[in-house]
Amino acid sequence: SANFHKLNSVSKAYSDYVSGAYNVRILQWNILSQALGVMNDNFARCPDSALDWNFRRYRIVEEIVQYCPDVICLQEVDHFNFLKHVLGTQGYEGMFFPKPDSPCFYIEGNNGPDGCAIFYRKNKFDLVKNENKVLEIWRIQSNQVAVMAVLRIRETGQEVCVVTTHLKAREGALLSTLRNEQGKDLLQFIGYNCGNRPIILCGDFNAEPTEPVYETILNSMDFSSAYASCNVADLRSADREPPYTTWKIREEGEVCHTIDYIFYSRDAMEVEAVLDFPSGEDIGQDRVPSYLYPSDHFSLVCDFRLTNT
Ligand code: NDP
Ligand code: CA
Repeated sequence: SANFHKLNSVSKAYSDYVSGAYNVRILQWNILSQALGVMNDNFARCPDSALDWNFRRYRIVEEIVQYCPDVICLQEVDHFNFLKHVLGTQGYEGMFFPKPDSPCFYIEGNNGPDGCAIFYRKNKFDLVKNENKVLEIWRIQSNQVAVMAVLRIRETGQEVCVVTTHLKAREGALLSTLRNEQGKDLLQFIGYNCGNRPIILCGDFNAEPTEPVYETILNSMDFSSAYASCNVADLRSADREPPYTTWKIREEGEVCHTIDYIFYSRDAMEVEAVLDFPSGEDIGQDRVPSYLYPSDHFSLVCDFRLTNT
């Protein structure tokens, strides 16, 4: 059921995929914090047993490893040690940075704070450096974070800067302003630490393409949005994004919109393929999470080819 939307050149089937020295396959996913998913989200149509950690954790791992990503960027990670252990057996090394005052802390039986994580394939990359950041709004620390990994492709020596974040949630004019401020601080952090390396910036931005932070990022450096790049070219980027990256039913109603992105340096790389999301029919009327889909967000997967190398 998983399909790669193939562009220019055609990448190998995902099941036996081994990326070349000039390629990077990245997976971006808000995996849904275990504590928040069970106690906070109030998913109206998701059976409790589908959220049981002893079941759900293997669905999360399956979802990740089936695509053989070179780099994995995750948000709402509140079981980093489990992922580190299991993904470690699959050849990945990882890093994690928690939110300073994670809402998980306020949940009974929590497993510690949630935060952002990056994993990379050990036989493909060396870690050059890891930087973490508490994002600031008007010079004051917020409760949102970013994680950066500068990775060197062993075969070519080429370095890539991977950054992931999870911006402030919820709707409203003030909140969209706060997200935009977090976006600006994130760009400054990237400017300080990435140098002139190609950049992949992905995450749960909690912002639809119409929000200021989306433009702020696209107007900065030479960023393009990977999924938008794969759509008809004669529309502006915001109109080329997919119709949804999350689709859930809470007590308050159904939510289906696009808030997760993979941005990349268009001067340094090209998008070869992106993974299509499951259709409404695929996921069913109760939407996600479900037994089949362990998070309320879908995983974004993108194949990049490094150019100018
Ligand atoms: P955010 O606004 O960033 O949201 C935190 C989480 O809530 C996100 O993971 C988000 O998921 C999820 N979320 C978004 N919308 C909903 C919804 N409608 N229902 C349930 N969950 C939702 O919050 P902050 O991290 O900035 O935390 C705010 C502050 O609240 C913290 O500093 C903490 O001190 C405080 N807090 C206090 C609690 C208490 O009991 N005293 C409880 C919880 C928080 P997604 O990104 O996928 O939308
Ligand atoms: Ca969430």
